[in-house]
Amino acid sequence: MNDDDLIRAIGIDLGGSAIKSGLVSSNGSINGFSRVTIDRMAGSEYLLENLQAEIDRLTALAEERGLQLIGVGVGSPGSIERSTGRIHKSPNFRGWDDFPLRDKLVKMTPLPVYLANDVNAAAMGELKFGAGGDFRNFIMITLGTGVGGALVIHGRLYDGAEGFAGEIGHMVIAPDGPECPCGNNGCLEQFVGAPALVRRARELLEKIDLTGPLAQIDPEEITVEEIGLAAADGDPVARAVLAEMGRWLGIALISLINVLDPDCILVGGGIAQAGPPLFDVIRRTVGNHAMSGAARVVPIITATLGPRAGTAGAGALALWPELTASG
Ligand SMILES: [Zn+2]
Repeated sequence: MNDDDLIRAIGIDLGGSAIKSGLVSSNGSINGFSRVTIDRMAGSEYLLENLQAEIDRLTALAEERGLQLIGVGVGSPGSIERSTGRIHKSPNFRGWDDFPLRDKLVKMTPLPVYLANDVNAAAMGELKFGAGGDFRNFIMITLGTGVGGALVIHGRLYDGAEGFAGEIGHMVIAPDGPECPCGNNGCLEQFVGAPALVRRARELLEKIDLTGPLAQIDPEEITVEEIGLAAADGDPVARAVLAEMGRWLGIALISLINVLDPDCILVGGGIAQAGPPLFDVIRRTVGNHAMSGAARVVPIITATLGPRAGTAGAGALALWPELTASG
């Protein structure tokens, strides 16, 4: 074993329902992975205590195993201003708006700290360990309650002038569309975010008398996971919802492809597992509308790292800071 095999970064994925952390190696393996459930409404002090506990646990584990720690990478929801390390705005956590997260983290450890938006961290994970590894230029989009995005350009994370780039979910695709919490109208997230999909499924179920699997579920209990599963079973309402979703995503991606000419598009998040009922429509929409140069077929593929992407990616921020703007 050479010395490089002993190098690890602490990777911490701060999510809406859990902190997922571990010791990340340069080949993407994770030692001491743990998932600690948190209450996102409990306030910043509580979150900081939990983050400190994970940093302490992993620091002790590294010491015990003779591993050499080179930094702490943290992926957090919200817009993060790079120069100050402040969370600008975070809809997910109480007490997290305009919060000096990097200053707080720096006091928790003598190691260098690297902080990024959670989707940017996940994109770093895909770049170094996952589906993005074969591509130098890709767009990542994550589908969940919110719709996140990240850009990798020339093999590096591109996060803009101050760290705010990649907010694909807030591209305005219908100026007269529904209001978005960001203050605009008709953002992509208002059409393809989980709440919009569930709402649309309920609307369609009311309009059409159906016997498909989705019609058997109490409308109040419908989730995007069930929509994805029902679509795979051929449920017409679920398929219609995913087809509409695929069309909106395709429309947003056409503009991104025309602007950036990427090597590929990576799609992550639970609903991405729905597969063909979603991806076929995205591909068809893009194929029909992208400009001729960019219309060479841009692969649109699922992200591969799954639930540990955020942790691995947070570790990657600390292992390869030179591939991020903060490096
Ligand atoms: Zn918005």
